[in-house]
Amino acid sequence: MGLLDGRKGLIFGIANDRSIACHIARSFVAEGATCGFPHLPGEKNERRVRKALQDFGGDDPWLMPCDVSRDEDIDETFAQARERFDAIDFVVHSLAFADRAYLKPGKFVDTPRDVYCQALDISAYSLVAIARRAKEMMPKGGSILAMTYYGSDKAVPGYNVMGVAKAALEACTRYLALELGEQGIRVNSISAGPIRTLSSMAVGGIDEIFEWVQKKAPLHRNVEASEVGKTAVYLASDLSSGVTGENIFVDSGYNIVGL
Ligand code: NAD
Repeated sequence: MGLLDGRKGLIFGIANDRSIACHIARSFVAEGATCGFPHLPGEKNERRVRKALQDFGGDDPWLMPCDVSRDEDIDETFAQARERFDAIDFVVHSLAFADRAYLKPGKFVDTPRDVYCQALDISAYSLVAIARRAKEMMPKGGSILAMTYYGSDKAVPGYNVMGVAKAALEACTRYLALELGEQGIRVNSISAGPIRTLSSMAVGGIDEIFEWVQKKAPLHRNVEASEVGKTAVYLASDLSSGVTGENIFVDSGYNIVGL
């Protein structure tokens, strides 16, 4: 018996087979979940998502284009979800965006207003927009999960405006947890250590971050995306029924080191 048998939900944020969302999806499907996959619009994007899902997503996985900076896309995604599922049990928000020209050490002070607003809109506000639609489909409660990083709390060279967006995202999870708790909806985040994906490769100085974690983290290695997938299963399942508003680090323990 799987930990997510009979559970249904949406996993936002698969770009390719390296995406953290793809590893979360693999773990969810292995535990019995049925998932829909909203993805950034575009034929090329759809092809990549389909390819990423080919060995575990079933013959005809449910994909839908959704640019989370557009309310009408999010509305359409949930309208389709309602047709398919009636109710959902989980939503995974594993997406972010910031103009890579400003993800370089020494460039935070130069962040223009539009770059800042876009990063916060796509990477943080979208969680609120998604949660508002999701709660209408969670009459028996549910679990909403977002992905964050250590750069929300500490100034990591090169992470820049994305660190500010992650601070906002983490605050959003707490406020959402506070308000949605009475409906039995839990909202949590996972703070993953660095993992090689399209997004992380856009962060200037990322190779040094990988080396530094390997040297300094208690486990002396970087994490695997599959380890994030396992923690996501915990947060979506009854194993975490008493946990909400939390941020769980899956980072080889790097965040606890003081020196
Ligand atoms: P990824 O590039 O595979 O995934 C990012 C996703 O965001 C992509 O699927 C992309 O299409 C999507 N996206 C961007 N703009 C969008 C928009 N407007 N509408 C809809 N989707 C949009 O990279 P990833 O590393 O798997 O990132 C997933 C999440 O994990 C992000 O929140 C990221 O910040 C977080 N995270 C990543 C790491 C890491 O080191 N890779 C560490 C901690 C947290």
